Amino acid sequence: MLEQTRSSEHDAGAAASGIVDAAVEHAPSYYAASANPSPVRDALTADIETDVCIIGAGYTGLSSALHLLEAGFRVTVLEAARVGWGASGRNGGQIVNSYSRDIDVIEKTVGKKDAALFGDMAFEGGRIIRERVEKYGIRCDLKDGGVFAALNDKQLKEIQHQKALWERYGNDQLEMLSQSDMRNVVDTDQYVGGLLDKSGGHIHPLNLALGEAAAVESLGGKIYEDSAVVRVERGEPVKVFTEKGSVTASFLIVAGNAYLGGLVPELKAKSMPCGTQVIATEPLSDEQASAILPQDYCVEDCNYLLDYYRLSGDKRLIYGGGVVYGARDPSDINAIIRPKMLKTFPQLENVKIDYSWTGNFLMTLSRLPQVGRIGNNIYYSQGCSGHGVTYTHLAGRLMSEVLKGQAERFDAFASLPHLPFPGGHMLRVPFSMLGAWYYTVRDKFGI
Ligand SMILES: Cc1cc2nc3c(=O)[nH]c(=O)nc-3n(C[C@H](O)[C@H](O)[C@H](O)COP(=O)(O)OP(=O)(O)OC[C@H]3O[C@@H](n4cnc5c(N)ncnc54)[C@H](O)[C@@H]3O)c2cc1C
Repeated sequence: MLEQTRSSEHDAGAAASGIVDAAVEHAPSYYAASANPSPVRDALTADIETDVCIIGAGYTGLSSALHLLEAGFRVTVLEAARVGWGASGRNGGQIVNSYSRDIDVIEKTVGKKDAALFGDMAFEGGRIIRERVEKYGIRCDLKDGGVFAALNDKQLKEIQHQKALWERYGNDQLEMLSQSDMRNVVDTDQYVGGLLDKSGGHIHPLNLALGEAAAVESLGGKIYEDSAVVRVERGEPVKVFTEKGSVTASFLIVAGNAYLGGLVPELKAKSMPCGTQVIATEPLSDEQASAILPQDYCVEDCNYLLDYYRLSGDKRLIYGGGVVYGARDPSDINAIIRPKMLKTFPQLENVKIDYSWTGNFLMTLSRLPQVGRIGNNIYYSQGCSGHGVTYTHLAGRLMSEVLKGQAERFDAFASLPHLPFPGGHMLRVPFSMLGAWYYTVRDKFGI
């Protein structure tokens, strides 16, 4: 349980535009309720100076901070709410390799030769997480093994293709699962087969973020909570302002993702915040837990709007799904997610739901991360489009490489083209809903 609490939630994006006061509690998730002890950090109340200032203490910001500190930079992180308050502290906890669109899509965009670099990086984020957990002794219920579950033959063919693709880039941890193999992994008759990635896995996401923040501080990094950046004064050095202080830095890293709001206007046009919802059941009995997920792998299905689930360290079923384009918070999360859970596991009809929450991720039109620089000293990485747990950890390493003068891998991501959503700011939500409806119909009929 977190040691102390503040009054209520807020919207960091709104804070960035100066609208919201400093009410900064975590979302009412199972993760906040079961978080490892962690201090409430001071807000910034002075004018200070550093080498690298980072906006946002999610995985992108924390991973960048950690890699930069290890490389000898002085680092200050400014977080509008609390460490892990955004998607990083409330996600499904699934360590999913590669990117939201796979390397074959990147091959079509940049050509086979240049795509090889992305293939080489596709499994690095998961390795970084495991290194962090080991090196800094982070207690976050890390488990190995993730399964992609096919609901129809078309999806089965797609994951066979994905296996061949990933093997081409060196992942030798993959195994196709037949329909009967799947019954040894998930007790449901929904699936026709699946793909096991033994190098996937799952974690308590908030505890990973809190552990990384402690590691940042152990290396001399400074993290301020309740410190929304409200203005960026560009220049060399760059200066950022909170309500009560400022940081002057040689470099700025923007890691506010779906909660950044309009702070950096260039980043707004080509991305869209989206919500997704998660529920956590009461703890299951040992028999129930080992019956529904006997191998304790995490699972996501292969639908366009996918369901994802796993067991927590104390054997709750954590079940998520759905996408709310434009990130409006639904009024009744249970009404959306519980029926999905019961479709997969009708045997859980009488199990109580203890927690339900929502969180925002940032989508790009291509579903690939939006990475780049503004001027000579502002860097950003955002928009992992729903699969960001591993990529954000890689992003941190890329940030430290580029600030050390090794730009090749950062520039590969920065070269990915990004288009604005059709319909512009006003119509991007209905247009995206229409697109999702089209793909949902195709998923339903396996076409
Ligand atoms: C419900 C949910 C389930 C998900 N499940 C999975 C999953 O199982 N597997 C997976 O791979 N991915 C999943 N994702 C996606 C993944 O969680 C994200 O891609 C990833 O955590 C993004 O990390 P981030 O650090 O870029 O952003 P965030 O974690 O959102 O962090 C951004 C931080 O910046 C802060 N901030 C914003 N503006 C300012 C400002 N002006 N000043 C100071 N601070 C600011 C915010 O308060 C926030 O703490 C899920 C996302 C959600 C929402």
